Amino acid sequence: MSSKDAPPPLPEPLGVSVADSHTHLDMQTGTVEEALTKAAAVGVTTVVQVGCDVNGSRWAAETAAAYDAVHAAVALHPNEAPRIVLGDPDGWSRQGAREAGGDAALDEALAEIDALAALPHVLGVGETGLDHFRTGPEGMAAQERSFRAHIEIAKRHGKALVIHDREAHDDVLRVLREEGAPERTVFHCYSGDAEMAKVCAEAGYFMSFAGNVTFKNAQPLRDALAVAPAELVLVETDAPFLTPAPYRGRPNAPYLIPVTLRAMAEVKGMDEDALATAVAANTARAFGY
Ligand SMILES: [Zn+2]
Ligand SMILES: [Zn+2]
Repeated sequence: MSSKDAPPPLPEPLGVSVADSHTHLDMQTGTVEEALTKAAAVGVTTVVQVGCDVNGSRWAAETAAAYDAVHAAVALHPNEAPRIVLGDPDGWSRQGAREAGGDAALDEALAEIDALAALPHVLGVGETGLDHFRTGPEGMAAQERSFRAHIEIAKRHGKALVIHDREAHDDVLRVLREEGAPERTVFHCYSGDAEMAKVCAEAGYFMSFAGNVTFKNAQPLRDALAVAPAELVLVETDAPFLTPAPYRGRPNAPYLIPVTLRAMAEVKGMDEDALATAVAANTARAFGY
């Protein structure tokens, strides 16, 4: 393994433990135990495991039932919903190429997510939302229908709503307004600017920042973090994606949360322990644990 593919070293432990509010352990190398042990060693004592399709959501719920340190969120990813309806010619997902299933197949998958959302270890419904980057115009109707259905499921079960918003800020905010957002709504991998952060703050939406807040070209994101109220800020890895600087391109995992949290403390001009204390409380409030 060359050093550019090797897992980054363990950072200095945090003084105050926090949660990784959004991770995909099923897409990382190594076992769940290994990931949790490494994370706990640096003060990342809780993770929210996020499902992106029916199988991944089942796995998230089972894993949360098996480990105290794991909570689950279940959903059809915004790019998964159009694949179910229109088929998956590129075979991006784990199941590979899939037949087009139409609206009935989406309803069936949503019913599975609804059943999982009722489970006690499932604290969130998501990631759901809109992705105008990966899904083209032909998939937008399915994507928006799925998003609206997830909002309804989250509200009916009293769970947190976890939003994936990629290049779709205005439409995500519009759908939330039209449907009425659940009491607890989290923008995962927050990617809006400072203006949007004010809109989210006004609405009481949580903003979860990932490793990309450390990227050199991410000044607008840091400006957003600077104005986001400390009581609405969360931290996440979205691992294995979005590894923070200076480890960009190497595999991400929950144990790297301290790298991102330290960069965030600097942006907010806050003491590291003070920000960690706020983030820990915010994550517990957002997911209701
Ligand atoms: Zn996402
Ligand atoms: Zn994710």
